[in-house]
Amino acid sequence: MTDTYEVFALRYATNPARRAGENFLFPDDHAAPMPIDYYVWAIRNAARTIVVDTGFGPAAGERRGRALLRHPTEALRQIGIDAATVSDVVLTHLHYDHAGCMADFPAATFHLQDAEMAFATGRCMCHRVLRFPMELDDVLTGVRMVYAGRVRFHDGTATLAPGITLHRVGGHTGGLQVVRVATARGAVVLASDATHFWANLRTGNPFPLVADIAGMLEGYRICGELADGPDHIIPGHDPLVLQRFPPVAGAADAVRLDLPPLA
Ligand SMILES: [Zn+2]
Ligand SMILES: [Zn+2]
Repeated sequence: MTDTYEVFALRYATNPARRAGENFLFPDDHAAPMPIDYYVWAIRNAARTIVVDTGFGPAAGERRGRALLRHPTEALRQIGIDAATVSDVVLTHLHYDHAGCMADFPAATFHLQDAEMAFATGRCMCHRVLRFPMELDDVLTGVRMVYAGRVRFHDGTATLAPGITLHRVGGHTGGLQVVRVATARGAVVLASDATHFWANLRTGNPFPLVADIAGMLEGYRICGELADGPDHIIPGHDPLVLQRFPPVAGAADAVRLDLPPLA
């Protein structure tokens, strides 16, 4: 029998002023409000704890007009995880809202796709629209982590631990990876920005921030193949995640993704 895990989505920031037009590439009801939430995720069993993404801190939030509800490390602390002792952090990609607080994980090895570091440090960053969601300081921190021997690079599919695999999907950035986790209800896929909202995937209408639209559409298919059902694909920014899954007692804006969705 393979290991199974508890899986948590932890909201740390929100942007209630977001409009639907900012969330879909092709025309939708552009003026309608469609708030966006920001999460980090955690995977845990008796043997190990793995954090997925590090979120952004107060300075980046202020620069970009995003309300920080709590520091990502505080969101982790609420479920009993001390960022200072976490040994493994998966960076799904290097955007500011996913890779902003690496320094707060002093004991961690960071798991990243080769293609994502190439994307964040190469010719694609000559283009403003691709550069905009990156914070240069985060990318420089990532490079420093490489030189400090604290990055484990992956190229495509990799096994992180029994029951936890990484899968590169293209699309949103050059080397975004999703995380597949074995749970008591089957395989859950932390899709991160492979799909920001369930609606992007369901309608096949991508989020506008896309490096390669064919890769993004293929990513939807790959997530579908990896997950044990539509409810097992967890989008990166959807406020519905907090409504659909059982809350964690004593922790604000925290839900259990390894438990069946609420009716
Ligand atoms: Zn992103
Ligand atoms: Zn994001």
